[in-house]
Amino acid sequence: MSPTGSILETSALHKSYRMGREEVPVLHGIDFSLEPGDFGAIMGPSGSGKSTLLNILGCLDRPTRGEYRIEGRQVSGLSEDELADLRSERIGFVFQSFQLLPRLNLFENVELPLRYLGIPKAERRRKVSEMMERLGIGDRGKHVPAEVSGGQRQRAAVARALVKDPAILLADEPTGNLDSTTTAEVLDLFDQLNREGNTILLITHEAEVASRARRRWKILDGRMEEIA
Ligand code: ADP
Ligand code: MG
Repeated sequence: MSPTGSILETSALHKSYRMGREEVPVLHGIDFSLEPGDFGAIMGPSGSGKSTLLNILGCLDRPTRGEYRIEGRQVSGLSEDELADLRSERIGFVFQSFQLLPRLNLFENVELPLRYLGIPKAERRRKVSEMMERLGIGDRGKHVPAEVSGGQRQRAAVARALVKDPAILLADEPTGNLDSTTTAEVLDLFDQLNREGNTILLITHEAEVASRARRRWKILDGRMEEIA
């Protein structure tokens, strides 16, 4: 835990991309923190830098400058290996396109992070079964992703993110590929997971999706502010 107790904390975070000879700035000084048990949503139009920020928060990318702490741990000094370990142990990531492995069944997909962490088989089986049961896909384990609905695929992706008991669940437009009924179902699930104590941060360009979160931020022109 950090001195402030935050799960995530950034200060003056900047990110720019190099395009040929030019530096293209995307994030210009993001100060942001998320507390244990928060359910936050970051809104902003397409191209505003939401995924760029979430990828940094999820340790998939690094900021150009500025500070970032996860559970009080300064991220910028970590080596690539340390960063990868931190990501696999503490961050649960859910993508718009699910990113399940098509040849593995849902059980095996959910089990994968526990294999990387070297969890013994019996414990893996128990954790995966419990998590899939909790997410309402306990009977879908033997099916490959193509054999189940979009909602069930996203549930499996959420199960895969949560099975290792991360500090936070990060979701990049998690309902972006879902119809409105399934969107409602997945948002109900996030609500339930938050009530059960999970810290969640999602990004979305849809106000309706953001309205389900308990805290909201808007990102515009590379800056972010919390909105009431
Ligand atoms: P959002 O998720 O809000 O739609 P992104 O974070 O994906 O926005 O992109 C923000 C800006 O950064 C866009 O202008 C995009 O073109 C640019 N960008 C994103 N990723 C890269 C990259 N790897 N290289 C260069 N530019 C990028
Ligand atoms: Mg995006």
